[in-house]
Amino acid sequence: MALRRYDPDSPRDQIGQLPVCGCGTLLRAKPLGRRRFLGLSLATVALWAAPLDLANAASGHYEAMLLTCIDPRFVTAARNYMVDAKHWKDNYSLFSFAGAAVGAVAPKLEGWHQTFWDNLGITLQLHNIKNLVALDHRDCGAAELAYGKEAVATPKLETETHRKVLAEFRAEVGKRHPQLRVITGLIAKSGKVEMLG
Ligand SMILES: [Zn+2]
Repeated sequence: MALRRYDPDSPRDQIGQLPVCGCGTLLRAKPLGRRRFLGLSLATVALWAAPLDLANAASGHYEAMLLTCIDPRFVTAARNYMVDAKHWKDNYSLFSFAGAAVGAVAPKLEGWHQTFWDNLGITLQLHNIKNLVALDHRDCGAAELAYGKEAVATPKLETETHRKVLAEFRAEVGKRHPQLRVITGLIAKSGKVEMLG
């Protein structure tokens, strides 16, 4: 099948293009000239460098934010938990980095922590979420890196390590955002989510 060439001036290629996404990023159908691109880049830098004024940003009321690990084997299980078990299809924001809650609290990953709390703050302001879901998973390379091989050497030790991580995560969320309901769990290789923490 011959592929039709993308034409930014064709109305067909502009259908469905939204001017602004839910996190305030500009999306444009047409390629930008260098000057225009630089202008937008500077505007974007200014937006993020300045104290966040989100009063005019796209916003709404949503149920939750989900924190997951980046491990590709568990993407569908996490989605199934949010959509099938919680019935929150298209009703949650998503933050992923290695280790899920491990990335937010492990001392070895300290450089990542603030990024998570900043993103949580933004989704609270933009999306008015009421629930925060953190799903760690078994056989997590990041958990092993952060806490050492011994900490995850057996399923029992692995469970205890994640129980501590998720409890610490809950406590940290509670200090910052006591109004949030926190749901924490550990995904098994089968995809089953065990509530933990
Ligand atoms: Zn992982």
